[in-house]
Amino acid sequence: MIEYAVVGSGIGGSSIAAYLDAKGHETVLFEKEPYLGGCSSTFMHKGYNYNTGATTLAGYQDGHIVKSMFDAIGFTPELISTDPAIIIKQNGKTTPRYRDLEAFLEVLDMNYPHPKNREFWTLVYDIGTSFYEMRGHHYTTRTTWKKMLSLTSYLPLLFKFQRYLRVNAHDFIQQFYGETTDEYLQFLASQVLIVAQAPLKKINFFTAALSLGYTFNETHYVKGGFSKLFESMTASMKQVRRKTQITNIESKEDYFVLHTKRDSIKAKNVILNSTVYESGQLFKKEKIKNYYKKYEKLNNYQSSFMLYMTIKSDTKYEHHYQLIQNKQYPHTLSNALFVSFSDPSDDQLSEKGHYSITASIHTDSRWWEDASKYNSQKEALEDTLIKSVCDILEIKKEEIVHHMSATPRTFRHYINRSQLGGNAITMKNFLPKLPGNDTSIKGLYHVGDTVYAAQGWPGVMLGVDNLRRLLHV
Ligand SMILES: Cc1cc2nc3c(=O)[nH]c(=O)nc-3n(C[C@H](O)[C@H](O)[C@H](O)COP(=O)(O)OP(=O)(O)OC[C@H]3O[C@@H](n4cnc5c(N)ncnc54)[C@H](O)[C@@H]3O)c2cc1C
Repeated sequence: MIEYAVVGSGIGGSSIAAYLDAKGHETVLFEKEPYLGGCSSTFMHKGYNYNTGATTLAGYQDGHIVKSMFDAIGFTPELISTDPAIIIKQNGKTTPRYRDLEAFLEVLDMNYPHPKNREFWTLVYDIGTSFYEMRGHHYTTRTTWKKMLSLTSYLPLLFKFQRYLRVNAHDFIQQFYGETTDEYLQFLASQVLIVAQAPLKKINFFTAALSLGYTFNETHYVKGGFSKLFESMTASMKQVRRKTQITNIESKEDYFVLHTKRDSIKAKNVILNSTVYESGQLFKKEKIKNYYKKYEKLNNYQSSFMLYMTIKSDTKYEHHYQLIQNKQYPHTLSNALFVSFSDPSDDQLSEKGHYSITASIHTDSRWWEDASKYNSQKEALEDTLIKSVCDILEIKKEEIVHHMSATPRTFRHYINRSQLGGNAITMKNFLPKLPGNDTSIKGLYHVGDTVYAAQGWPGVMLGVDNLRRLLHV
């Protein structure tokens, strides 16, 4: 019998599987697709490579969670440092988010002058720095009593940041600045949305500060595309089963039986990397189905529409841009597009002289369910986004050698989920309401962006680290 069966090779599944395997535990990793990484993978279409969703790696620096987990696995990724982390373009203004606070403030004061800018961004910077220095908190949902006890490990964090935890970010910013422009509020809100996955009015200022401040940390470009990172991370694992979907799981007294279309495997413990909203469908047992039922309502149906383009161009582009428009694009939840370019030296991701571009915008998965409107809606949004990207970043139409788009339905088809970006970290979704990495069912665990701690590399890795503690491995 296998000791650990890990279902899904996203950031959470691949990392915990590689870690357990490195520590000598018999582990098998199942992935329904031929490539690893889920939302953070790379795919090829008609000979062109694209990062599927994630394009930025944050948290790979000393003392931060991604590096400490990679070190624990014994894995060193091939990376290129990105500074500025993003270039923000809004109404003809260009604001690079430099890692250095002073360099960033200098441009900010030119583009969005305000006497309170230094005080505000120093606060954002300080909240981030002191948060990442804090250690020792953990979170369990195994029993109510254990959950209460684990919450006490957050008391130092609660005391330190209580002022910012209780207040909604929108009100805090308005009060702090006294008066500010809609344009500047949109500048802040667009940056917060890509990290916290929620608008300023729904989150506390603590979450907003961490979201605004992540660019003061090191961010990296992954050479060769994200799937290559997962291939390298799991290279020494003995059992990685690609193109193998787990169709259902039987729960026995002391073990589980996982079924694929071809065979069945017994495992003592199961770690799911599927979304917590839909994992109940894998089981028949009422007790397990009921466990998941209470989390199904957390699904906010938030998702992404993707534009992928390859261009042949001599222009020098940075790795990441956020393009903020004054009005929302149709069938989207945002007026900001996040656009990432491959590094010119990265000829594994795109041919020399070409850029592989991955652009994303928030949408609602339910808007893509009507089959009669699907194709026309998809084409219209794809055309609108191509036009915006080309106009703002001065790409000529004739430089585009390939383009395609993906909707929440595409994600459902390939990676078994249409809600993307995980739990929005709103004031309602904060601890203790977050689903944990362990469950009330013996031997059943979870990793990924719909459970503790949050989405993205640092958020999911905090959950992997938490699970490692809970498993005592
Ligand atoms: C458009 C977009 C852009 C993003 N940009 C960034 C970014 O730049 N930086 C960043 O840090 N984060 C980014 N994120 C967030 C980040 O990509 C996700 O939070 C993270 O990748 C989710 O990881 P996960 O562990 O939840 O696994 P997932 O990505 O959800 O992967 C789960 C895997 O499990 C597999 N699976 C599911 N069910 C089964 C089954 N029954 N059997 C076998 N396999 C199964 C799926 O095929 C999939 O491969 C972005 C997200 C999106 C959508």
